[in-house]
Amino acid sequence: RALVQPDAEGDERAFEAALRPKTLDELVGQDRVREQLTLVLHAARRRERTPDHVLLSGPPGLGKTTLAMIISGEMSAPLRVTSGPAIQHAGDLAAILSGINEGDVLFVDEIHRMSRPAEELLYMAMEDFRVDVVIGKGPGATAIPLEIPQFTLVGATTRAGLLPGPLRDRFGFTAQLEYYEAAELHRIVRRSARLLEVDVTEDGGLEIASRSRGTPRIANRLLRRVRDYAEVRADGTVDEDIAHRALDLFEVDRLGLDRLDRAVLHALCRSFGGGPVGVSTLAVAVAEERETVEELAEPFLVRMGFLARTPRGRVATPAAWSHLGLAAPAPGAP
Ligand code: ATP
Repeated sequence: RALVQPDAEGDERAFEAALRPKTLDELVGQDRVREQLTLVLHAARRRERTPDHVLLSGPPGLGKTTLAMIISGEMSAPLRVTSGPAIQHAGDLAAILSGINEGDVLFVDEIHRMSRPAEELLYMAMEDFRVDVVIGKGPGATAIPLEIPQFTLVGATTRAGLLPGPLRDRFGFTAQLEYYEAAELHRIVRRSARLLEVDVTEDGGLEIASRSRGTPRIANRLLRRVRDYAEVRADGTVDEDIAHRALDLFEVDRLGLDRLDRAVLHALCRSFGGGPVGVSTLAVAVAEERETVEELAEPFLVRMGFLARTPRGRVATPAAWSHLGLAAPAPGAP
């Protein structure tokens, strides 16, 4: 899974940081969001005010962290970074808020994973730039009001629907990030290749883009693997043939399915006759955790029209059978 799952190594993070666009102009794609955000930030600068709180929602790897960094850069405001899972107590959030300076951008990744009491404290901070910090417990507890300088909260979530309404409503601007078109991914691959000083032909770039599942993070990751291949097995230039061979070696097929995706489809078609089958059973068949199948393989297979979720379980579509080169059972066959 090394290709489509962030490896924990700092290596990957350093690589991502080096390729991050720094300004809205450098950002590729997401035209609507870019235009809206340009306007919001421009207006705030004209008024010499901190911009409204911004909620970024969309699947992993589409650029939420990148946008948070861009907002801080465009406003020349320091960025403070934290995440929902790190804020389990209201006190954790109070500690972060008490360190905030006027105009700072506070980025909370995975904001839907904050604890409920912390969320409630956050509403107040977002709206009134003030929170009550409760010291002590029981009848002796006292609430100490804490004034917070004006700041901009940038929240990121993979699922805006998971956020409680009151929290969602306190964001002045919500940007829904969409999967990228192949042409946009191609531009991202070209840009990254330039920064990494890798020679990539037009067709080589397209080959990488078309296997990247609409996701810049994956495009950059595939570029990195293809570069390794080109350097070790060829003269360093990435053309269509090299990209093709490298991606085959790393088991990323021409539609971007990786080994797990194909294992899931194979199990579904071969072992369960195309379903319906429960996701837990499917996970056992491919020797993976249920969450791994549900979070990593399934959304992409559904998006590609290969798998359908039905009340009775997961079902392979005719396109899945055909992608695997298998004959679909005749309709009505047992
Ligand atoms: P996650 O929520 O999983 O952390 P994310 O949505 O925050 O993902 P980023 O970390 O911002 O994603 O982006 C992943 C990588 O993709 C970065 O290296 C960044 O350079 C690149 N990237 C993302 N969006 C763009 C874009 N619009 N143009 C160019 N590169 C991009």
